[in-house]
Amino acid sequence: MGLIVQKYGGTSVGTVERIQAVAQRVQATVNQGHGVVVVVSAMGKTTDGLVQLAHEITANPSRREMDMLLATGEQVSIALVSMALQELGQPAISMTGAQVGIITEAIHSRARILQIATDRIERHLKDGKVVVIAGFQGISSIEDLEITTLGRGGSDTSAVALAAALQADCCEIYTDVPGILTTDPRLVPEAQLMAEITCDEMLELASLGAKVLHPRAVEIARNYGVMLVVRSSWTDDPGTRVLAPAYQPRRIEGLEIVHPVDCVEYDRDQARIALLRVPDQPGVAARLFGEIASQDLDVDLIIQSIHEGNTNDIAFTVVQASLLRAEAVAEALIPTLAGEGAREGACEVMIDRAIAKVSIAGAGMIGRPGIAAQMFSTLAAAGINIQMISTSEVKVSCVVAADDCDRAVEALCQAFEVGSQPAAKAIGPVSDVPPVRGVALDLNQAQLAIRSIPDRPGMAAKVFQLLAAHQISVDMIIQSQRCRVIDGVTTRDIAFTVAEGDARQAQACLQAAAGELGFREVVVNTAIAKVSAVGAGMVGRPGVAACMFRALAAEQINIQMITTSEIKVSCVVAQAEGVRALQAIHRAFKLEAAGTRVAREAAIGASPG
Ligand code: ASP
Ligand code: MG
Repeated sequence: MGLIVQKYGGTSVGTVERIQAVAQRVQATVNQGHGVVVVVSAMGKTTDGLVQLAHEITANPSRREMDMLLATGEQVSIALVSMALQELGQPAISMTGAQVGIITEAIHSRARILQIATDRIERHLKDGKVVVIAGFQGISSIEDLEITTLGRGGSDTSAVALAAALQADCCEIYTDVPGILTTDPRLVPEAQLMAEITCDEMLELASLGAKVLHPRAVEIARNYGVMLVVRSSWTDDPGTRVLAPAYQPRRIEGLEIVHPVDCVEYDRDQARIALLRVPDQPGVAARLFGEIASQDLDVDLIIQSIHEGNTNDIAFTVVQASLLRAEAVAEALIPTLAGEGAREGACEVMIDRAIAKVSIAGAGMIGRPGIAAQMFSTLAAAGINIQMISTSEVKVSCVVAADDCDRAVEALCQAFEVGSQPAAKAIGPVSDVPPVRGVALDLNQAQLAIRSIPDRPGMAAKVFQLLAAHQISVDMIIQSQRCRVIDGVTTRDIAFTVAEGDARQAQACLQAAAGELGFREVVVNTAIAKVSAVGAGMVGRPGVAACMFRALAAEQINIQMITTSEIKVSCVVAQAEGVRALQAIHRAFKLEAAGTRVAREAAIGASPG
């Protein structure tokens, strides 16, 4: 006998018949001997309808009244689901977020959960009742009693947070799709259902996964070790298991705001190879990393930045023992590239034997723009220059001089109040884990390039603090290899991507600081797409990045930026080529043969819910 939290999305409770079907499933679970807590969304498109109503009254509704309005949607569904259960003879009681005691920040429309009282729920469970709780909502504090909402799609987060607080055995998310697919089935009809995926993989696939599961829900599952399942409301199919690390006995206080960073990782066994001024044309990265992979050399970070003119810089890191062979591959490639558009002799290979990688790792960095900025400013305050930056949803890594490693780790541990550990060494590929689990396309990003910013400690910190102060989240960050000396000052370029909707504001606030920061200009490009391949199985397996680059090259798609984390490779390409890029990568990793084929209609579902 266990405790199960079941969450039903909007479409799953969209009509009276569907509510009755939900009640039957809940009752069946009770009959198996489990205690059940049900979390529901508003019926069907209710929330959209309420938003629409508000906008018919005012173009600028206050956030407080919006929360008051939107929270009503879930209150309708909890009452109806409880009635349906009672009608089946199953004792049940509905509760709003406030009645449970789901305490959130006092920030309307996007509050994070701070604390959940479990005593009332537990009392009702003991009495043999199913407790039906309104998702997506909470209350600011016992004194203020302000109704808050968690942000659109937030019921998933309510459900997983409740499962964490109640130490439930499992949290099941019932939705109108069969589970999590290898990619977006609207764009790639061959997309397959995954039987399982880890929380970290899911977080790295944010732009794919977010349509099915609120990313904040995955963060909580990962941090508290909640066992999560995403499955269809219409069938008994098992769906997708989202694997969390083992149960973490963490305090519930500060649920969504503590632990943005779990630990500082470092790796001193790294060397860097940079190819400067290689031609900006399809196929270059594919050839370079294809050659490297054919030597069975495993590459760790890869970074390619954009530049004015028609050349790129590509930098990558390998373990020191691989440096000589990787260098030889790079040197051998240079003469063959020179003839392809680059000026004779312009390409060169640059080696750095003594570097270290320091990273902050944790779930909870998404949507918290201050975290990366805090890392950069901490390093700056310690006088440490950052040579390369690589960012992902669960990790921010900086390459620094090997001599700076210890000081960097110490400063970061202090700043984030966590311990440190050596980065996990790849023990070679684990044979039953696929190198790539899924691929995602993000069309809603824009790229900003800051040209010629002085190369001094602290510049990245200033840039990203400024953006954080404007609540702008940054996705990929790439600092160029190439330096340029202007009036005696060494400068570099820094490029990054933000949500398209934030691009103009980001540009404006940076431009306003151009004088103070000493850079020349900020260039915006909104016509980009980001394609990513994600899989825990790529760790220690040479050739994964090469396979992705080869797939793009075969389609004649030019790569504008590259960035990697341990379990992700992302490329920025022209927006118009995004869908074709996604399809090519899905094929290249044979994902159409990876999982369970699902009918197209089922895969796409009725609507997000
Ligand atoms: N009803 C809310 C929304 O549509 C919350 C949810 O469904 O998760 O955003
Ligand atoms: Mg949803």
